[in-house]
Amino acid sequence: MKQETKQGFGTLAIHAGQHPDPSTGAIMTPVYMTSTYVQAAPALTKGYDYSRSHNPTRTAMEQNIAALEGGQFGLGFASGMAAIHCVLNLLQQGDHVVAGNDLYGGTYRILTTVHAKFGVASTFTDLSDLAAFERALKPNTKLVMLESPTNPLLRLYDLAAIAAICQRRGILTLADNTFASPYLQNPLKLGCDLVIHSSTKYLGGHSDVVGGVLVSNDAGLHRRLMHFQNSCGGTPGPMDCFLVLRGTKTLHIRMDRHCRNAMAVALFLASHPKVAKVHYPGLLSHPQHELAKRQMRDFGGMVSVELKATVEQAKQVASSFHVFSLAESLGGVESLVDHPASMTHASIPAAEREKAGLSDGLIRLSVGVEDEADLIADLAQALAQLN
Ligand SMILES: *Cc1c(COP(=O)(O)O)cnc(C)c1O
Repeated sequence: MKQETKQGFGTLAIHAGQHPDPSTGAIMTPVYMTSTYVQAAPALTKGYDYSRSHNPTRTAMEQNIAALEGGQFGLGFASGMAAIHCVLNLLQQGDHVVAGNDLYGGTYRILTTVHAKFGVASTFTDLSDLAAFERALKPNTKLVMLESPTNPLLRLYDLAAIAAICQRRGILTLADNTFASPYLQNPLKLGCDLVIHSSTKYLGGHSDVVGGVLVSNDAGLHRRLMHFQNSCGGTPGPMDCFLVLRGTKTLHIRMDRHCRNAMAVALFLASHPKVAKVHYPGLLSHPQHELAKRQMRDFGGMVSVELKATVEQAKQVASSFHVFSLAESLGGVESLVDHPASMTHASIPAAEREKAGLSDGLIRLSVGVEDEADLIADLAQALAQLN
């Protein structure tokens, strides 16, 4: 493992955690479709006793993604939310969480409707304002949850600065790195304690699997999380792990194309007369463009756009694409369009959305790896609906 971490990203993506099958030499990690493992004598195992606890296909995936994040320990889950839930199990009654106010709707929902019941309070705030962030911290704050770029407004948070503030106060930082992917950004290297991914998105990359992963570098923290992973049981099946592993092998190649296409889309939209504002970290007009250059390898595949349109017109535009598909989720090879206020972010109350600056006229694009000219032509014809 030590040796492997010196290798480049593409080499790690293809080889980290992967070993030819010892019984056949199969180069691809087999899908170990088994619930249990035969023991030579009671409790004498080859490291595997029951597949909720461990499965060899899952181990390969966990090690692979841990290596991509520059972490030592990976844990696989049945979904991104199961991974987030696992981390929230570290908290107890009376604890407090600070989270960004522009975030995945499901993360808002689990904090406000599930963990709030158990006496865990949450504050949602704009973490790009470090002074406001420090004011939101309380003596009982135990966890800071952040996404950068944020969803759907693609703001950036200064991960190193936030992690340093938290470290001084003994607060854990959990970075949701789903939007950037480990190819573009590695929060552990910037001082964060934990990284979570919805592997449903860029890691899987083909919109054919739902999964989650946690990565850390602290053995004690890893042991506690592994205890929750096994106790709560939200673990992925071996076929799902195989699909994610198949996805990570091409992550770097796909991300390069996602980024290139997204930049072209952002530039096209920025000069379009029907567009009020484009949110993309790669644009010079993005308020944290300099931070993006410092913190990320490239600017990502997500672009959000505010149209000069009523809500009804915005929904109409979202429904008039031919290459982009109207669907939730992101990070697959195919381009998707989302109307956050009525789709992905509908679980956040309208007043909260408004406070965070998420307007009802906003459209979010997950720019895929199709041909750039076809994507631009599709956007041009959809926006022509506004004439
Ligand atoms: C999709 C997503 C999640 C939740 O992951 P699931 O795999 O859908 O459970 C969490 N965070 C972000 C940023 C996401 O996009």
